[in-house]
Order: sequence, then C-alpha cells, then structure tokens
Amino acid sequence: MKLSVISLFPEMFAAITEYGVTGRAVKQGRLSLNYLNPREFTTDKHQTVDDRPYGGGPGMVMKVSPLLDAIKTAKQQLGDDVKVIYLSPQGQKLNQHALGEMAKRESMILLAGRYEGIDERLVEQEIDEEWSIGDYVLSGGELAAMVMIDGIARLLPGVLGDAESAEQDSFMSGLLDHPHYTRPEQLNGQTVPAVLLGGNHEAIRQWRLKQSLGRTWLRRPDLLESMTLSTEQAALLEE
Ligand code: SAM
Repeated sequence: MKLSVISLFPEMFAAITEYGVTGRAVKQGRLSLNYLNPREFTTDKHQTVDDRPYGGGPGMVMKVSPLLDAIKTAKQQLGDDVKVIYLSPQGQKLNQHALGEMAKRESMILLAGRYEGIDERLVEQEIDEEWSIGDYVLSGGELAAMVMIDGIARLLPGVLGDAESAEQDSFMSGLLDHPHYTRPEQLNGQTVPAVLLGGNHEAIRQWRLKQSLGRTWLRRPDLLESMTLSTEQAALLEE
C-alpha cells in the first residue's frame, strides 16, 4: 500500500517507520510512505503555513495554497482517483472494520491538520473522507495518522506472520480477545487456567471463545448487540 502523508512534521513518523510491525512492513516494501510538507509548497520567504481566521478569534488556520499544492502533487504521484483522508476530531470514528476496508486500497493520501484545522472549503472540495481516532482533541493530525497507519499495516497481507496473526485480535470477529498467559505457571499464588496446560486443543479453543464472549459481555455489551452470534457462540453465552 502506498500512502502519501501531508504533514508539517514528517519527522514524527519515524515512530512507526523505524520500529516494530510497522517498521517491518516498510522495510519489506509492503507499506510505502511518502511525505509532503506544506512548508515546501510555500512561496514567501518565511515559508508561512498558517493564516488568520476570517471573523477573527483565537487560533490560526492552515494556509490554503500550500495544502492545495501538496494534495495536487500527491495525486500526480498516486493517481487522480486516490482517496484523500483528513484526520479530524469531527470525522467518523475509526474502528477495526474501517481499517480492514482501508487495508484493501492500493493507496491513500492522509492529511494531518495543525492549528484550528483546515479551511472548510478545502474539506468540501478536496477531502473524500474525514476520520477521527476518538472524542478528544489532539494538537495535530500526525498521531492520528500514525494510529491509522499502524492499524492498517498489521492487516496488510504478509505483514504479520502466522504466529502473530491478527485474526484473533479484539474486534476482528466482533468480540474482544481472550486472556493470554505465559510463564511462570504460578504468579504470586495465581495459577494459569488448567485447560491451557492440558494440551487439548479443542477444549482450549472452546475455553478461549467462552472467555472472549464473557469479557465482551461484561466490558463491551454494545459489540454483542451489533453482531450476529454463531450457534456455538450463542450456546456458550447461554451457559
Ligand atoms: N479546531 C478543531 C476542532 O475543534 O474540531 C481541532 C483542531 S486540532 C487542535 C488540530 C488538528 O489535529 C486537526 O486539524 C486534526 O488534523 C488533528 N486532530 C485533533 N484531534 C483529532 C482526533 N481526535 N482525530 C483525528 N485528528 C485529530
């Protein structure tokens, strides 16, 4: 997948390009990130990237022309039908399903805002989708874009090995993940559940499914309301 990121602080993205699963996706060439800094598209000697808001009031707005030029350049690189995404607290709330759909795309342009955000006419004319990472306000869209990229990268074919498969992660089947245990077998008087030590794979699978159902029911009943349970899941939940 090819991503063009429009950001005033492209250096921040080292956090995902140099470490862990996302870093590996980049090194393997499964994820390619290209940065366009609006500052590079300014024409004044101060390289101004913000502008005063019409109507007055506190805060600045991202200057329009560098953003327009950055989007144009990104489209020249990725093609005119590439989706332009604006990370914004006013967007649709990001979730696992949306990340899965995005991971099927060949490319996207991600615009990270700063200041009070971007001119509303840019939103209307240039932005295809607005996505929020939650009901809170960050100082800039970079962290939100990194959250989105990380979530997408682990869903790209070949990025996670079998051992790390995303299939059992929370939300993938609609449920929360089951609890995990590792050595030692005893920890401050608490023992690993016996079923996990018995080697009966079918019993372990059923136990894990039951745990997933139980903690989803306790912690996130809203998830259960919006999913259709299999016959096995419904029976286990009844127990
Ligand atoms: N004035 C804007 C508002 O209240 O809707 C907030 C602007 S915020 C200080 C600056 C930038 O951070 C935004 O343009 C956006 O790109 C990014 N941002 C802040 N919170 C975000 C969130 N929850 N999800 C995604 N992006 C966010």
